[in-house]
Amino acid sequence: MHLKHNFSTLGESFYSATLIQPLLEQRLVECNQTLADNLAIDFKDSETLALLSGEQPITASLSMVYAGHQFGGFSPQLGDGRGVLLGEVVDQQGKLIDLHMKGAGPTPYSRRGDGRAVLRSCMREYLASEAMFALGVPTSRALALFDSREAVHRETPEMGAMLLRTANGHIRFGHFEYFFSRGMTDELDALIQYCLSHYYPECLETSSPIENMLLAVVERTAHMIAKWQAHGFQHGVMNTDNFSFTGETIDYGPFGFMEDYDESWVCNHSDYEGRYAFNRQPGVGLWNLNCLMRCFSSHLTRDQLVTILQTYETALQSHYDSLMLQKLGLSDVADLHKLWPSLVTILSQEKLDYSLFLRSLSLLSADDYSLLLDEVIDRERLRTWLDEYMSIRSLQGKDWQQVQQGMLTVNPKYVLRNYLAHEAIQAAEAGDYLPFRRLLNLITQPFDEHPACEALARRAPGWAKSLEVSCSS
Ligand code: AMP
Ligand code: MG
Repeated sequence: MHLKHNFSTLGESFYSATLIQPLLEQRLVECNQTLADNLAIDFKDSETLALLSGEQPITASLSMVYAGHQFGGFSPQLGDGRGVLLGEVVDQQGKLIDLHMKGAGPTPYSRRGDGRAVLRSCMREYLASEAMFALGVPTSRALALFDSREAVHRETPEMGAMLLRTANGHIRFGHFEYFFSRGMTDELDALIQYCLSHYYPECLETSSPIENMLLAVVERTAHMIAKWQAHGFQHGVMNTDNFSFTGETIDYGPFGFMEDYDESWVCNHSDYEGRYAFNRQPGVGLWNLNCLMRCFSSHLTRDQLVTILQTYETALQSHYDSLMLQKLGLSDVADLHKLWPSLVTILSQEKLDYSLFLRSLSLLSADDYSLLLDEVIDRERLRTWLDEYMSIRSLQGKDWQQVQQGMLTVNPKYVLRNYLAHEAIQAAEAGDYLPFRRLLNLITQPFDEHPACEALARRAPGWAKSLEVSCSS
């Protein structure tokens, strides 16, 4: 393993030197072999494992300082309260990838927190980030999971754990807000140059690098959120300190994947006002980008910044439309816009399962709608919609089977349902990681058939409806 330490060259206003503080009797319980291979990391090598688990200190490891708008209010100083950036490695494609340990112990930014993470939340992040990757959503990834015998106190004592994760970058909108709000212009400029050379080098070749970099950030953010909406993902805590400058989904907390369709669903039970409700995510993305743009007010004019922000909505809509066209097997956006609103009414009024509906639609035959009609109360309403949908599809003149094959590659059969994660966590807490591995296998190949696991593709059983995700992590 060849660790680099590029971020640390920015200097100590950007971070505090921080080592991983290993947990009591920690064990490597899962590692992501494909990802590890791509990063030339060998967990079987004892020296590598000692470094990555914190048994052997990495002297240049650090915790980053940043700020952020949390639920609309500005917190002038946050930071990695329980995360340590170990450094960067180069992957097989020549790309620089951050290695970051979550739950690594207290840092100067821990405030009143213990610097730890519980097994439950590390497993949820592991599963979610790998599920998102398999769905093609830009995301941080899970490289390894360590459990331990150390008790970490949340509502009750839980098992402490650490998650080793990767991302293209861990620089957040909140990094810029930190330096801008303090008037630290030299540091802000250094951060901008760092991002240009490490994440947006193509912009350096242009006549207006900063402007083009911000356009690219807007585009990447729009792309990420369009994918969230199309796949029914809700982040839950879209604070600007959880928004990555490289446009990746990071900091999985009380997230959720849509099951019964509900546009105004709020997965985070601490989000009393529904600020981060599912249907508000696109708007919050813009709000967050607006916070980011303000930090560039001495680099670009107000008009330039507004023009950059104005590209967001069109970009998001076009990414969303293109994924929804694939999901519905359609080719014309006008057809999508005609069919989608009435389908949304049906999905929400009938409380249909979002993913299963689309999966079944991918398997529908023109002369038998029973697969879908049997799921609803108002059969006539759905039949009318399906008739219109089928007639539009037949007018496209495309090969029926080819369209369906295409739909099956974007509509997952297996979804990270909350109750499945819950069951896997309960088993792991009792020492059995088999359900976790089985679930991981399904959600990382979500479009495939797994005949032995049919039951895990179904809707949540009745008891699971009342499951609440704890926001403490
Ligand atoms: P989040 O919204 O979960 O990403 O966390 C918000 C902030 O709280 C971040 O700066 C975290 O590093 C910090 N934080 C969360 N949990 C803990 C913890 N157990 N100990 C210390 N800091 C924490
Ligand atoms: Mg965070």
